[in-house]
Amino acid sequence: MIIDNHGRQINYVRLAVTDRCNLRCFYCMPDEGIDFVSRDELLTYEEMLRLARLLASEGINKIRITGGEPFVRKNMDQFILNLSQVKGIDTIRITTNGTVTAAYIPVLQQAGIDTINLSLDTLDKERFYKITRRDVFDKVINCLHQLIDNGFKVKINMVVMSGLNHQDIIPMARLAEQHPVSVRFIEEMPFNGDGRLPDTTWNYRQIEQHLLETFPSLEKKPYKPASTTYDYSVTGFKGDLGIIAAYSRTFCGTCNRIRVTPQGMLKTCLYDNGVFDLKALMRNGANDEDLVVAIKSACSNRAKDGFEAERANFSSGRSLSSMTSIGG
Ligand code: SAM
Ligand code: SF4
Repeated sequence: MIIDNHGRQINYVRLAVTDRCNLRCFYCMPDEGIDFVSRDELLTYEEMLRLARLLASEGINKIRITGGEPFVRKNMDQFILNLSQVKGIDTIRITTNGTVTAAYIPVLQQAGIDTINLSLDTLDKERFYKITRRDVFDKVINCLHQLIDNGFKVKINMVVMSGLNHQDIIPMARLAEQHPVSVRFIEEMPFNGDGRLPDTTWNYRQIEQHLLETFPSLEKKPYKPASTTYDYSVTGFKGDLGIIAAYSRTFCGTCNRIRVTPQGMLKTCLYDNGVFDLKALMRNGANDEDLVVAIKSACSNRAKDGFEAERANFSSGRSLSSMTSIGG
């Protein structure tokens, strides 16, 4: 088992399989001038599978595939199928922008993946373009409906930003009135690749208040330990709502997750800068035991929360990282 220095068991890894993406979401990366890493700097699928097996042997039972956009990496289908065979991993989840995902529905079903997190920040085509800088709104909406029709549990992630899409909070919430989906509102975090600090107007309290004004029956569900989400029910809704206080960081106390970036850096907190180079260790011929020792040692030196990690890593108070290179 991997237990951190604050007594928290780690059982969840977020694996970013690429830093590349076919969108350019405003809050995630700049429109131009992004230095994507070269192919040989990315972890290979074999290296990722090796890590998955080792982590599973140490009690990790849940993996989220993220990126970048996972489905722009070639041969993702085979990787997903191989990952689904790893003993001990009983939950695989994927976060995707939905642009090319529909084509993978049969593979996802074959791999036993039943829940998909789909990023969608607005139901307005023009605002979608403004946020993502790409004209693929119809594809994403089509993907959403295909996922629902094929029986997937869909969690829709909306990053809330003043001016850009706050006017979509209620229309997006209504998706959960009409469909059995979870719509989750996320506070913007400072990982846009250009050091811009997020506008904190739409923090979790403000989002909750705004929802309550339209949906007075909004009711907070009991908090699930290690969850990043406050879940809510609304009378008459087929689905539910959620708020993720990603910048206020209210959930760090029970954090059970680590991350592996596309370049194979281990992160023990979203707000740290990468604490150990797993790829270098693997490519220098480390055996499995060396790798486990390195991972456990990094976890025994873990920041208490995202504020501590941020203070230690970004003394200027600003991260120049892009979410696409961190693995959102
Ligand atoms: N490309 C996939 C997608 O968009 O779903 C997966 C990677 S993306 C980095 C993962 C998640 O991080 C998405 O739900 C996205 O909305 C969220 N995200 C990206 N940048 C963010 C930021 N600065 N603040 C809050 N959430 C962010
Ligand atoms: Fe791409 Fe996802 Fe980042 Fe948007 S949030 S630019 S879809 S990686």
